Amino acid sequence: MASLNLKNIYKVYPSGVTAVTDFTLDIDDKEFIVFVGPSGCGKSTTLRMIAGLEEISSGELYIDGQIVNARAPKDRDIAMVFQNYALYPHMTVYDNMAFGLKLRKMPKAVIDQKVKETARILGIEMYLSRKPKALSGGQRQRVALGRAIVREPKVFLLDEPLSNLDAKLRSQMRTEITKLHNRLATTFIYVTHDQVEAMTMGTRIVVMKDGFMQQVDTPMNLYDHPVNQFVAGFIGTPQMNFFAGELVGKKNEVYVKFGKDKVLLPKEKVNLIVNLDKYLNTGRAITFGIRPEDIHDEPALVEAGKLPCINIKVDVVEALGAETLLYCKTEYENAKNANEVSLDEDVSNMIARVDSRSTTKAGDIIKVALDVNHCHIFDKETETTILARSEENKEEIIALQAKREEEEAVKAAEEAKRLAAEEEKARIKMEKKLSFFGKGKKAKEEVVENAEEVVDDEAEEK
Ligand code: ADP
Repeated sequence: MASLNLKNIYKVYPSGVTAVTDFTLDIDDKEFIVFVGPSGCGKSTTLRMIAGLEEISSGELYIDGQIVNARAPKDRDIAMVFQNYALYPHMTVYDNMAFGLKLRKMPKAVIDQKVKETARILGIEMYLSRKPKALSGGQRQRVALGRAIVREPKVFLLDEPLSNLDAKLRSQMRTEITKLHNRLATTFIYVTHDQVEAMTMGTRIVVMKDGFMQQVDTPMNLYDHPVNQFVAGFIGTPQMNFFAGELVGKKNEVYVKFGKDKVLLPKEKVNLIVNLDKYLNTGRAITFGIRPEDIHDEPALVEAGKLPCINIKVDVVEALGAETLLYCKTEYENAKNANEVSLDEDVSNMIARVDSRSTTKAGDIIKVALDVNHCHIFDKETETTILARSEENKEEIIALQAKREEEEAVKAAEEAKRLAAEEEKARIKMEKKLSFFGKGKKAKEEVVENAEEVVDDEAEEK
């Protein structure tokens, strides 16, 4: 049982790569925290810094209020479970689990009791005398978990522990680990690139990208109120549909216009837009986001007229049993000449997740209703949401926008500086080249002049 505080933690590898930037997080005792993000976003590095396997470049790490930056891994009271299990192949399951306790010189009887009790919890009692090679992947992962559990650490660190398992086993182990967390009532920090694992297991999730924390929130808040387009796209499958557009209309009648389509926003949503004046009829680009499950093709809903509808053409229908996915095209292509937004080829693609009893077929041109009560709107440039989750949240969103705009400005200035430096380098190189050719030309002229003089002298002599 332990609380952790990470304060402004950075990791800069000797090669100069900044893997983690300004990681700040307070983890409560008994929390199940998940670090999630695409490969290379710095989640393992952060975990390894907590474990003490990687030095912290700057910042402070506290466990139960005590700074542990300089403390060796073995003195941090932490157990780590890896993706590749890291079991000793020549030892039995029993010995693998008992090994750490033997090193700590624990009495044999106590070790025996702990190993057997843990094996019972994990359902591996019947394998205690087997060697790891005689176990399946799932069983090996359970032994790896068991080896961590017997030590009764303050904090469990799990680095993609289920990646080597097949899909069925993975979902089974997911629930087992969640149950284990409830049972052990210990702090868990779990690293994964799989958003489903993150959403189903974490009490709070840290979404990371390029070494930066994007959002720290509960699974439902990440789903309902992603602070930026990255989080919105990362959480949820199939991913949220995004359309480049703008806000038009009047203050009490605001529409999202994207391509040829225009949908009215509910008043409650409009009231939550921060800096509405900046966007309304100004042409400032926004990104409209709507999740596949918020698009409906049921005729009753479409005809009810309560939700705005758009026309779509259905390309492919994927009947998955419990649900059906429609891969469609909106009428976006008609706006391609409008040139007001950067339109890539995919921009008119849309995925809808509809009821499995839907009668929609490939090739149909139909109306679908968009549940705009659950839509998302991002500033196109900063990719940050412009929709607050509540009145109280508005200030936070304004601050986020300002921060992102500042970052964008710094990035633009750095880019301009880099371009200027490159131009200067190219200019100097060109000058050198020109002066070299200039010199060459002069030398050639001198040679020609000399040669002419020699010819003249010879002629004179003759
Ligand atoms: P993740 O776990 O999210 O996949 P990592 O924490 O392993 O990401 O890596 C974050 C970044 O740091 C990546 O760009 C990776 O290439 C880099 N990195 C990781 N380990 C090292 C290392 N030992 N030396 C230099 N760069 C590293």
